[in-house]
Amino acid sequence: MKRAVLIGSLRYRNLRYTKNHPLRIPRVSLLLEFLRAMDLITDEEVLESRPATDEEVLLFHTKDYFDALKEADRCRCVPKGAREKYNIGSYENPISDAMLKGSLLATGSSVQAVELFLEGKVPFNPAGGMHHAYPSRANGFCFINDPAIAIEVLLGMGFQNILYLDLDAHHCDGVQEAYYSDDRVYVVSIHQSPEYSFPFRSGFLHERGSGRGKGYNLNIPLPQGVNDTEYLLVLEKTLTWLSDVYKPDLLILQLGTDPLEEDPLSRWKLSNTAFLRAFKAVREVFGEGIYLGGGGYHPLALARAWTLLWCEMSGREAPKEINEEGKKVLLAVEWEEFDDEKDMSYMYESLIDEERGGEVRGEIREIIAEVKDLIYS
Ligand SMILES: [Zn+2]
Repeated sequence: MKRAVLIGSLRYRNLRYTKNHPLRIPRVSLLLEFLRAMDLITDEEVLESRPATDEEVLLFHTKDYFDALKEADRCRCVPKGAREKYNIGSYENPISDAMLKGSLLATGSSVQAVELFLEGKVPFNPAGGMHHAYPSRANGFCFINDPAIAIEVLLGMGFQNILYLDLDAHHCDGVQEAYYSDDRVYVVSIHQSPEYSFPFRSGFLHERGSGRGKGYNLNIPLPQGVNDTEYLLVLEKTLTWLSDVYKPDLLILQLGTDPLEEDPLSRWKLSNTAFLRAFKAVREVFGEGIYLGGGGYHPLALARAWTLLWCEMSGREAPKEINEEGKKVLLAVEWEEFDDEKDMSYMYESLIDEERGGEVRGEIREIIAEVKDLIYS
């Protein structure tokens, strides 16, 4: 079995977004602490994240934009005109230690993930997956587009058939735009429909790529209230048809946890059991890939879900219960947005959710039929 490696760092603890921002929460550091407390990771399985170099960042981003990020980081201010021109210093993309230092670390880790994968390992960079950033514009909490930079590194090595599959609840607009007219990268995304969810302007079914890239972009926007049964049906059908017509040399998989029901930015009803099944289904069809994190705004739901995935990657049986040490780690999370209405105590006790299955609605069946037509057209 290939060896799994988690690329992470406790340094993320101090590289946080501003107060009241959805990404203010601990994520990678919490995952590391939780895995250690649960005795589900060894020191040998962790690789310390390193920051991306300027050269790596400039594989995708413009120099003037990168210079503006550096200036904002240095002065702790919004450089003149930067909010309008680069969308930095807004509530959405605030100036904090996460902006440049955190993004550089997450991006260096995605390049590390590429290197590890090519050495025959199974890499997971939970800080990665910042799929909304554009070459010269921050977007959707993302400043540096680490998936695109990982793809650029691979294209530079001569890879010609890269599958980028994005399971985050939001459409990967930054990645889509970058490879929209490129047939070397097939971008596939399953997400909350832009009719009701960020980024609102892209992620529709009809966006299939242009020029040489025509047919190498596939969006599967889904309605509100998606349950486990619906989600897994959509995913499994898509994987079957896609693998019938497309044989990638390599897979990059974005694993944002915001499709989970507990997530404050989710309108879906998924359990982490379905999330794990989705991950298994992708691996069964396309084999091992380069695994990146992504969105995820409920720290406990995120830590539990990525723990399940890590167990799967590293060949461990996931324990059903959370032990005392693990519970302590979760209880210590300071978070401003706990929903007091609902009983969330199960999140401290068990690791694996009950299934949240249900009826498959007619509109989901219609989307599945359209996806089939698109894949074979
Ligand atoms: Zn998201």
